[in-house]
Amino acid sequence: MHPRIIDELRAIVGTHGLIAEPEQLRTYECDGLTNLRVVPSAVVLPASGEHLQAVVRVCHRERIPFVARGSGTGLSGGALPVEGGVVISLSRLNRILEVDIPNARVVVEPGVINLDVTERVAPFGYFYAPDPSSQSVCTIGGNVAENSGGAHCLKYGFTANHVLGLKLVLPDGEIVQLGGKTLDPPGYDLMGVFVGSEGTLGIATEITLRVVKRPEVVQTLLAAFHSTDEAGAAVSEIIAAGILPAAIEMMDALSIQAAEAAVHAGYPQCDALLLVELDGPAAEVALSMERVTEICRGCGAWEIRLAQSEAERMVVWKGRKAAFAAMGRVAPDYIVQDGVIPRTALPRVLREIRQLSEAAGLRVANVFHAGDGNLHPLVLYDRSVPGQEHIAETLAFDIIKLCVQAGGSITGEHGVGREKQKYMSTMYAEPDLDTMQLVRCAFDPQHLANPDKVFPRPRLCAEKQGRYEPHPLEQAGVAELF
Ligand SMILES: Cc1cc2nc3c(=O)[nH]c(=O)nc-3n(C[C@H](O)[C@H](O)[C@H](O)COP(=O)(O)OP(=O)(O)OC[C@H]3O[C@@H](n4cnc5c(N)ncnc54)[C@H](O)[C@@H]3O)c2cc1C
Repeated sequence: MHPRIIDELRAIVGTHGLIAEPEQLRTYECDGLTNLRVVPSAVVLPASGEHLQAVVRVCHRERIPFVARGSGTGLSGGALPVEGGVVISLSRLNRILEVDIPNARVVVEPGVINLDVTERVAPFGYFYAPDPSSQSVCTIGGNVAENSGGAHCLKYGFTANHVLGLKLVLPDGEIVQLGGKTLDPPGYDLMGVFVGSEGTLGIATEITLRVVKRPEVVQTLLAAFHSTDEAGAAVSEIIAAGILPAAIEMMDALSIQAAEAAVHAGYPQCDALLLVELDGPAAEVALSMERVTEICRGCGAWEIRLAQSEAERMVVWKGRKAAFAAMGRVAPDYIVQDGVIPRTALPRVLREIRQLSEAAGLRVANVFHAGDGNLHPLVLYDRSVPGQEHIAETLAFDIIKLCVQAGGSITGEHGVGREKQKYMSTMYAEPDLDTMQLVRCAFDPQHLANPDKVFPRPRLCAEKQGRYEPHPLEQAGVAELF
């Protein structure tokens, strides 16, 4: 990048807000998807909305691509830098601007950590419902861009259901306000368009969130089953009985083993464990919990345990939330997948995942939001064994194709990013993708905001990033690799 532009960016954000040293830039070369890495030309850390706007204006004038970054915990390469581009890190925009308890609204800057919102409103008896397992580190801006979910989204809804207002810096540096504290403004639902757009339409600089009153009672049940078939059947029966749990999570034997080694949550050693959480008025929870217990027993649960205290409940959840990170205890490397299937297809798809795993000769651990049908198969492998990483990648994508065949989706909550862009064509026909591009071009005709993410593209000559894999368009004879 031209030194003149670096100097201009430095003048906006100050010496401490700009990183241009090659060694320091490497800190930003990837997000949670670590097998793709690109070193950006500069990283800027704006400390105010005005800084952010001025930086985007420079990028727009000079036609420099830019990538917003929250905490970099994204698992699909959404915050992967663009070569020659600028990373705009939002970690200094981390103020909670307003807490409006009478209206149950909180206004935050994008770099605020998800859990900090709940901690701020907890003394008033409220919480912020979307709770990704990364909630102690990921940012609200990243959550908005990914439309993040979490264990409690079954009952409370995803990020999209909790964002009421957005102040945005558009890719040309203009600022617009969408929505606000009130519900359902007239006109097009542009907020619905922005939430989940993975940084491709601009950068959120202020976010108005809905917070929710804490329920009177919360109870968490652990049910141990002989198989994922039995546990999957219990999930469908609980929902079919008209009970809407706050969460239903499933863990298989491998994930239990890993989580136990890390957290000692006291999980029963079984082939499938369900965590069923109910919340609401005490009388309703007691009645529904009886029914959930009956259903689990009827489906074959051989141990059923209710967490006896808030401390015990917290440990149960700590084990679940640490499960991804704990995988390092059972395998040196893993790929986290994120696909969705109809809930009723759970037993069949889990069986087929097992068959694929056996055929590939690699273990797959399952720990996921069963109530949403949102699977997170973890494909375990060892990078030091030649060829194993490639087998793991193929297996991971075979699992995603299985989800689509079962009537599901290539992603539930982790986004498409760079990782899954070529698999968009397994879900969408060309006219659908063209229509999405029209929306994108309305915001960003020059494709400066997080370019080359989400949408599939033919591979080009001299392409550098990642290992070569044939693109579906290339396989179909539509595009050619030179
Ligand atoms: C251990 C672990 C567990 C996880 N569990 C879950 C889970 O349960 N549910 C879930 O949904 N995800 C989960 N994730 C994935 C990840 O934490 C979420 O996608 C999270 O929302 C990313 O937030 P971030 O601040 O790290 O964003 P980043 O990774 O920095 O960025 C993610 C995307 O958002 C864009 N972006 C960031 N800020 C802005 C902004 N202000 N405006 C516009 N675009 C922006 C970036 O360009 C990028 O495309 C998990 C990740 C890990 C590592």
